[in-house]
Amino acid sequence: MREGLVRGGGDLREGMGFARPRRVGVLGVGIDCVDFALTLDLIDAWVVQRRAAAAHGMALPCRQLCTVNPEFIVDAQRDAAFAAVLGRAALCVPDGVGVLWAARRAGVTLHERVTGSDGIYRICERAAARGWRVYFLGAAPGIAERTAQALQARYAGLAVAGAYAGSPSPAEWPAIERRLAASDPDILFVAYGHPKQDLWIDARLAQMPAAVAIGVGGAFDFVAGVTPRAPRWMRRLGIEWLHRLVTQPWRWRRMLKLPQFVGMVFLNEPD
Ligand code: UDP
Repeated sequence: MREGLVRGGGDLREGMGFARPRRVGVLGVGIDCVDFALTLDLIDAWVVQRRAAAAHGMALPCRQLCTVNPEFIVDAQRDAAFAAVLGRAALCVPDGVGVLWAARRAGVTLHERVTGSDGIYRICERAAARGWRVYFLGAAPGIAERTAQALQARYAGLAVAGAYAGSPSPAEWPAIERRLAASDPDILFVAYGHPKQDLWIDARLAQMPAAVAIGVGGAFDFVAGVTPRAPRWMRRLGIEWLHRLVTQPWRWRRMLKLPQFVGMVFLNEPD
């Protein structure tokens, strides 16, 4: 068994006896001790299980993956519903250098950030190799379609189940549900921004016809080229946030949550 995996337990995160990752608590939010390789293997297992169940006329519930960055953790301190969703999610991956830093202070070394913006590429690469069907839901009108086209151009044979902006408003759900049911995706990417997308997925998990639903925030905007992504060297140094501040200065108020997060981690450490 790989390091960081534990067997047993009986919660939703454990898929039919499949080993589940260990979680580390950061300000009360559980972060799964996963890297990209393990995240992809878990998604792989969920898709295989769902397809096997479907072949026997059974439907397995969809699983939720949340990409948790420091902003999520600060918001979860004040938003009990959001905190509960993160607690219930099948997988909370460490998205953000601040999360890695806080986990290390709690005695757990996480090997890499598992971000939605990189994850969308890695998952689509695996999807193309395995024949999984992917659906892109969210962002401004037309962006989901452009995201699908860009990824299809990059990963030959990627099976796009559908692409649609839709909206997280309850009135839109029947139309979205019809589209999803007709297209039978394995993977559903949802780009409505946090916490909206995560609350939206959680509320509809039982009706979601997919193996996994992943909230990816602004990832479609990056893939479609609407928002410039930080250069690789900045990402490697863990200063993607600085690039965001320079290219999207209107986000400055939201970005104050980063120093707030650091302060909260220090204040919550035992003496
Ligand atoms: N968005 C949307 N519908 C909404 C609210 C947001 O489609 O009602 C999209 C928006 O167009 C953008 C993404 O959600 O593509 C939010 O990106 P952001 O980087 O703000 O995500 P966050 O960091 O908050 O998760």
